[in-house]
Amino acid sequence: MSGKKAMVSLHALLVLFLLHMLLSGAFSVPLEHPEDKNAEIVQNYLEKFYQLPSHQYRSARRNNISMVVEKLKEMQRFFGLNVTGKPNAETLEMMEKPRCGVPDTGSFVLTPGNPRWESTDLTYRIINYTPQLSRADVEAAIEKAFQVWSAVSPLTFTRILQGDADINIAFAQGAHGDNSPFDGPNGVLAHAFQPGRGIGGDAHFDAEETWTKTSRNYNLFLVAAHEFGHSLGLAHSSDPGALMYPNYIFREPSTYSLSQDDINGIQAIYGPSSRPVQPTGATTPRACDPRLTFDAATTLRGEIIFFKDKYIWRRHPQLQRVELSSISLFWPSLPSGIEAAYEDFDRDLIFLFKGRQYWALSDYDILHGYPKDISNYGFPSTVQAIDAAVFYRRKIYFFVNTQFWRYDNERQSMEPGYPKSISRLSPEIGNKVDAVFQWYYFFIFFSGPTYYAFDLSTHRVTRISRSNEWLNCR
Ligand SMILES: [Zn+2]
Ligand SMILES: [Zn+2]
Repeated sequence: MSGKKAMVSLHALLVLFLLHMLLSGAFSVPLEHPEDKNAEIVQNYLEKFYQLPSHQYRSARRNNISMVVEKLKEMQRFFGLNVTGKPNAETLEMMEKPRCGVPDTGSFVLTPGNPRWESTDLTYRIINYTPQLSRADVEAAIEKAFQVWSAVSPLTFTRILQGDADINIAFAQGAHGDNSPFDGPNGVLAHAFQPGRGIGGDAHFDAEETWTKTSRNYNLFLVAAHEFGHSLGLAHSSDPGALMYPNYIFREPSTYSLSQDDINGIQAIYGPSSRPVQPTGATTPRACDPRLTFDAATTLRGEIIFFKDKYIWRRHPQLQRVELSSISLFWPSLPSGIEAAYEDFDRDLIFLFKGRQYWALSDYDILHGYPKDISNYGFPSTVQAIDAAVFYRRKIYFFVNTQFWRYDNERQSMEPGYPKSISRLSPEIGNKVDAVFQWYYFFIFFSGPTYYAFDLSTHRVTRISRSNEWLNCR
């Protein structure tokens, strides 16, 4: 009897244990767990863009996860994220960005070697149109997208209205007969095939996207110019300033020019341009370049933003990470080359300066009525640009060449007795400042590739080091 009773209670224990396991989710069906929504995103992304075999992610949970981890690391390396092999928040965020459908690794079509067109005089044909733009607008966007490449290479592009073209351009929706179905709005925007016969060189645009000729998503010219890079034989670049970067980033079309990375890519395949003067492009600044200097810097609601040419780095205080992005991504109407910036803590605004113009921004929105002229601050016409600016205790300090001015933000007037010489503030800083922001009880001054932490209570420089320590470069 006692033996049987013991059996029963063991059985009851087992049932309880199984019940506990079920309730704690250990046995739940993969798709029901919140984590598994992410599993789907990760699987889909790595399958499409990193050649992960199908269904690895979910089956890998029980077996060998090294394949998924390796692919995740590859993706993280490509985008310059922390290489953890885990689908953390920044990785998932990157996976949700709108982008090109061509994989980041390997080739889209299984053509051995590096395919290129034999002739440099190519033809294209627009097979159909999107109803969201006029025919003339589509044709103008496509023509301009080809010009981006013909301007820096010996290539020419001629539009034909019928017959066989090298590059066929079409808008298509969902599955459209090439084994790479489109996914509806956002996600994958377009794809294109490497040079070759038949479908080779062709570019397809997801007909379910909103196509525009403005800064609204998605600008057809920008996406087409990227896709034609593939049509000509280029792969994706991990340089976020390059046109061949896989994610969609808005840039002003009227002043658009290729980055040096794109120019090097196309010229490696087709040789230099036949123009007498070789075109050059902008080089994306490298955070850890020891010669790196900043144009301007400011805090923005706890973040620090560093300006450089057409780029910004955003340093998140909690995340301890730094993100390179373009000015036009946040503020499409702002120019590149911002020269000074400060955060007005009283009004919760930031102010950006270039030449004699300045803009006021509330978070990421430019206020109405800007840009304005710096004469509003009381600057004489001899001041043509501000080097750096910082807000502290209701005063704004403006640095112009070897001098600084102090503006009373309450009285809305420049204080008497200014400008004063920067060397009077602190002899260590030197006589010119590139950028400055306030950080706790310090002004952090940047001059050339060096920063100076200026203690606001003792009025002494307490630390001098390399500017890009602020971008996590050691
Ligand atoms: Zn692409
Ligand atoms: Zn297609």
